[in-house]
Amino acid sequence: MKKFEYMEKYGYEQLVFFHDATTGLKGITCIHNTTLGPSLGGTRLWVYDNEDDATLDVLRLARGMTYKAACAGLNLGGGKTVLIGDAKKVKSEEYFRALGRYVQTLGGRYITAPDVNTSAKDMQYVNMETDYVVAIPTKSGNPSPATARGAFHGIRASLKERFGTDDMSERTFAVQGAGQTGDFLIGDLLEAGAKKVYFTEINEDHIAKIKEKYPDVEYVEPDSIYDLDVDVFAPCALGAVMNDKTIKRLKCEIVAGTANNVLEDEEKHGEALKKRDILYAPDFVINAGGLINVSHELEEDGYSKDKAFSDIERIYDRLLDIYQVAKENDTHTQEAAKIFARRRIETINKLHSNYIKR
Ligand code: NAD
Repeated sequence: MKKFEYMEKYGYEQLVFFHDATTGLKGITCIHNTTLGPSLGGTRLWVYDNEDDATLDVLRLARGMTYKAACAGLNLGGGKTVLIGDAKKVKSEEYFRALGRYVQTLGGRYITAPDVNTSAKDMQYVNMETDYVVAIPTKSGNPSPATARGAFHGIRASLKERFGTDDMSERTFAVQGAGQTGDFLIGDLLEAGAKKVYFTEINEDHIAKIKEKYPDVEYVEPDSIYDLDVDVFAPCALGAVMNDKTIKRLKCEIVAGTANNVLEDEEKHGEALKKRDILYAPDFVINAGGLINVSHELEEDGYSKDKAFSDIERIYDRLLDIYQVAKENDTHTQEAAKIFARRRIETINKLHSNYIKR
């Protein structure tokens, strides 16, 4: 892999490889852009086929975090860490403390958090060696309710954009996946007076839980969720669910949910949804509630749930701004979100070009 060529093409700042002989910790941290502030992004633990796959993954994920933080209105940049290893074998106190010591060497340019195969509990060990870690259990805790709340506000904004009102009492919803975020989202929709909510799931326990918790919500089989005649399709399970096969089946006006990487191919399927006049809420904008929530751990006066949740509400206005950018540029909304992010980074950068003593 031509690492410098790739870094130059997409404007990366730093790519660091590290190894700890005592624990066998082996990983890569990528800092994509710190114009807005320190880079923040989770630590993913994965069995990669080879080092190039791990490198490409960390580069791609770190860049995604830059866009996500910028659109979320945070003073944070994009970064990520991948650890190369088998989660079933390598995890231990000393392994994560070794990670913490290494994160500390970056002097605050990178702040880590849990991600795939690393938990808030693991981050407690990281925190024994560094202050540059968020989402530990004693602070903001489980991010899922915050992510769901952000998606709820994003759905409201999308309704406003499409129908001129965000009133839910005449609107119908199809929620794909009722796990950690889908469950909370269904609750938020019902509380706001949604006319009808359908859901689908593949986990029997989750199906039973939702049916008991919300008796008015109707279960549909996983594959039929795409064909429902509803106003909003909310992907809250897997990635790549908007693709050549599914987009042509949709009868909804809006696609907006918590899932990551919803578009199988960002360019092609962002454009395909636009062509079908289906409003798509860009995933990394609408699902930033969890990130906004953990970012409040970095506040000087400490984490406050009230402050964090009121900040999350701003996803509403940001999405409306992004929909405006899409119209002005005659482009699909995923691309508009990137334009929005780049503009914010460039403007704040220019703003900081003159010296002011603080
Ligand atoms: P989760 O694993 O708790 O829930 C996902 C649910 O989807 C599970 O209950 C699973 O059984 C179900 N599912 C899987 N395949 C399905 C299918 N084909 N049809 C129907 N249901 C299916 O995960 P989560 O934390 O709720 O996250 C959901 C999505 O949101 C993921 O893409 C995740 O990356 C993204 N996300 C989550 C957070 C967060 O704070 N949890 C933050 C940002 C993004």
